[in-house]
Amino acid sequence: MATYDYDLFVIGGGSGGVRAARVSAGLGKRVGIAEEYRFGGTCVIRGCVPKKLFVYASQFSEHFEDAAGFGWDVPPATFDWPTLIANKDKEIARLEGLYRKGVEGAGGTAFASRATLLDRHTIRLEGEDRTVTADQILIATGGRPSGHPALPGHEHCISSNEAFHLAKLPKAILIEGGGYIAVEFANIFHGLGVEVTLVYRGKEILGRFDQDLRSLLHEAMEKKGIRILCQTIQKQVTRRKDGRLESLLSDDQTIVADEIMLCLGRKPNTEGMGLEEAGVKMGDLGEIIVDEYSRSSVKNIWAVGDVTNRIQLTPVAIHEAMCFVETAFRHNPTAPDHAVVATAVFSQPEIGTVGLTEEKAATRFNIVDVYRAHFRPMRNTLSGRDEKMLMKLVVDGKTGLILGAHILGPDAGEMAQLLGVILKAGLTKEDFDRTMAIHPTAAEELVTMYKPSYRLKNGERIAA
Ligand SMILES: Cc1cc2nc3c(=O)[nH]c(=O)nc-3n(C[C@H](O)[C@H](O)[C@H](O)COP(=O)(O)OP(=O)(O)OC[C@H]3O[C@@H](n4cnc5c(N)ncnc54)[C@H](O)[C@@H]3O)c2cc1C
Repeated sequence: MATYDYDLFVIGGGSGGVRAARVSAGLGKRVGIAEEYRFGGTCVIRGCVPKKLFVYASQFSEHFEDAAGFGWDVPPATFDWPTLIANKDKEIARLEGLYRKGVEGAGGTAFASRATLLDRHTIRLEGEDRTVTADQILIATGGRPSGHPALPGHEHCISSNEAFHLAKLPKAILIEGGGYIAVEFANIFHGLGVEVTLVYRGKEILGRFDQDLRSLLHEAMEKKGIRILCQTIQKQVTRRKDGRLESLLSDDQTIVADEIMLCLGRKPNTEGMGLEEAGVKMGDLGEIIVDEYSRSSVKNIWAVGDVTNRIQLTPVAIHEAMCFVETAFRHNPTAPDHAVVATAVFSQPEIGTVGLTEEKAATRFNIVDVYRAHFRPMRNTLSGRDEKMLMKLVVDGKTGLILGAHILGPDAGEMAQLLGVILKAGLTKEDFDRTMAIHPTAAEELVTMYKPSYRLKNGERIAA
């Protein structure tokens, strides 16, 4: 039998890779892991974590405004971008250290190097100019912002990567895209006092989310002062003499901004890695094609996380990594479960959502009951904030099974986490009805919507 330097070599030290390396090393396997940039990956270094810290920072402007109605006299607040960046960087560096230590503490070997494949068992560590061999190889290289090379002047634009390190807070920013990253950054920059224009080619922001959430969030963002231009794209970006950027849009208007940020999707990191040469099959976007157990077309090469372009979320990458370890090293073949994944959009107001949208449910079930509460949350009464909250349950009219739960408003993400358990458990509307409310909370609306607001029969809306 061939002997290898490692039982497992992981390429990519992000959410999926680090988890697989740490747990496998903890099982006594000889594990190596290579990371070309910073351990922690997208989520920790330039994704979920710094983004959420920015969200918190950006929410204070509304908190200060709201405080007045509760009797507080808050002096005019000022905001210092360099302080936020420095504090964020300190926290990210701390987390980065923990990720690396976690692997090493479990007995794995961490390499700060780009890694590529020479063949199906040989890995080249570019930073160290040497090769190592491994029995099993896990590709967990994630993805990166897609960019827009066809856009004249695209070189003047930034992506989410650079947004975390801007030397100066822009006075005005144009963000192109309608996905959750574009929407979250539009709200972050607006909350920090930046003039924001969101440009999106689609009819409505946040495709694939429930239509109610999409249109109500759109309305709320515009009310705050964020300019949203749907069915519009950028045709050209130019740098003016004064250093500012000018964007020519498809409707021929021009927008002047200090930064233009492209949020046009993400591309799997598979180029130049020797994957094709090793026999690993990839899809049209460059994603690694895997079977239900995350195994690629080559028996000993596996892939988890964003590089497989299944569901691009941190907990999904981690779950896939755990299933990989079960399958490869614990003689317990386990396929990741991608059904009913709860998720949040950290917009302002926030979205928390799980299960089928009303529109999807209507295509799959004959009778769908929709329970909907659209109300002003208590904390917006004294503050005078004119912002409403949405709670919505989408229910199979025949069995009462909860098919989807959608929330727009404060703490929606926190609530969606628990609704995820409810949907995963297959609970019914009757279970909601016999659950005592917690008063006074916003979440109590979820268990006090006794009558459907309307019913959909074969997709047509009828009175309940
Ligand atoms: C702005 C932003 C906000 C986000 N917010 C959220 C959120 O709120 N919630 C959520 O669940 N998800 C969020 N995500 C998505 C989340 O970050 C990803 O789904 C997650 O990080 C995927 O993990 P991964 O292990 O697949 O890849 P990654 O975390 O991307 O890790 C891959 C690592 O591989 C390294 N690498 C690549 N090629 C090589 C190579 N050849 N050799 C060595 N190393 C290599 C990369 O440097 C990277 O560190 C966000 C993403 C972005 C961009």
